[in-house]
Amino acid sequence: MIIDLRSDTVTKPSPGMKEAMFAAPVGDDVFGEDPTVLALEEKAAQLFGKESAVFCPSGTMTNQIAIRLHTRIQTEVICHKYSHIYLYEGGGIMANSLASVKLLEGDLGKITASQVAASINPDDIHAPETTMVSLENTMNKGGGSIYTLDEVVPIKKVCEEFGLKLHLDGARLFNALVESGESPKDWGAQFDTISICLSKGLGCPVGSLLLGSKADIKRARKVRKVMGGGMRQAGFLAAAGIYALDHQVDRLKEDHARARALGEMLLKKSFVSEVLPVATNIAIAKLDGITPEFFLEKLKEKNIKAVKFGPDLVRFVTHHDFDDEQLEEFGNRISDL
Ligand SMILES: *Cc1c(COP(=O)(O)O)cnc(C)c1O
Repeated sequence: MIIDLRSDTVTKPSPGMKEAMFAAPVGDDVFGEDPTVLALEEKAAQLFGKESAVFCPSGTMTNQIAIRLHTRIQTEVICHKYSHIYLYEGGGIMANSLASVKLLEGDLGKITASQVAASINPDDIHAPETTMVSLENTMNKGGGSIYTLDEVVPIKKVCEEFGLKLHLDGARLFNALVESGESPKDWGAQFDTISICLSKGLGCPVGSLLLGSKADIKRARKVRKVMGGGMRQAGFLAAAGIYALDHQVDRLKEDHARARALGEMLLKKSFVSEVLPVATNIAIAKLDGITPEFFLEKLKEKNIKAVKFGPDLVRFVTHHDFDDEQLEEFGNRISDL
């Protein structure tokens, strides 16, 4: 048996999810006629108290659409230097929006209101105009770290004061919410747009949603079209999303408990000097004396998969298809490393 901890995207649809997918009523969503897509969009928007939502093939697309909505040519996005929108979306801020980016430092991938305030460009002929701020929760490169509302509210205040749009890359937002106990509606109220992924911890095969105002999501549908993201009988995929929101959110806590246990197992190894605080479903191990390539090779011999996450870092992500039995087996397999 292979233990695959490369990402929470490696999951297969659960039996109940598959059933829901096959049973879904569908139509042509580019004509706005897929009842299951419409139901998913409505459900997600309501959950976060937003007016509207649009279903997209990926979180890269929902993030990139949001950036398109909140920037113009020669404007600038503020985000952490480890943000997914900057590091892992193929240079999309430039390629899709012709916008610049200001990268901030911060512990565990997080930025603060005072940093944001200090990073807004002056109204000056030399500077791109700052128009948006993007946060990520949970923060992938921060080891799945969590923003809480009391950290976000002051950032929102700065954005309001300076007329900036605030976007949330919430690829793993549900991981944060089940851990903090904060409500989706309170989060919805802080952001102009929120991207959530169904294909990560929620265990769907495909799909992300962009949530926002009616006007923003209307424009988002046009941007989705030009990016090639208009899908036809997408209700088969949307049905998985509805099923996941109903049945596979609360169980994320189990992933977090297993990630903590996994982090403790890793920390006992002589060649692991540190594990970043395990706040949710990601455990990032810092290596001492061996390279990530060497460690990954040894793991591969034991049928365990993980990914390199920096010059001396290896990332493990727990997910729907990683259970207690596999956790125990993981411990056995690494015992003689
Ligand atoms: C996975 C992920 C995304 C979106 O990725 P896709 O593979 O395009 O769906 C966006 N942000 C973060 C933080 C992610 O982890």
